[in-house]
Amino acid sequence: MKPRITLLRRTCREAAALLIAREDRALKLPDHVALKLHLMACDACPKFENQLLTLRAAMKQWRQDGEDGDAASVSGVAASGKPPE
Ligand SMILES: [Zn+2]
Repeated sequence: MKPRITLLRRTCREAAALLIAREDRALKLPDHVALKLHLMACDACPKFENQLLTLRAAMKQWRQDGEDGDAASVSGVAASGKPPE
């Protein structure tokens, strides 16, 4: 019989997938616990988590700026899909 701890072990690839999935939905408890354990033991994945959090904050700010109408330069690039010339 496998030790129970292996049920909570995740590879970096799996942890990254969980971090991305967490942006869209709440994780189930075993995945949530496994991700927390992985983040405590891994050097790379917390950096990826910080990048995701930074991206989420930037997207939130961009949406708010768009609603306020004071981010013409940013929204202009996003609307056209082209970088400024
Ligand atoms: Zn990792």
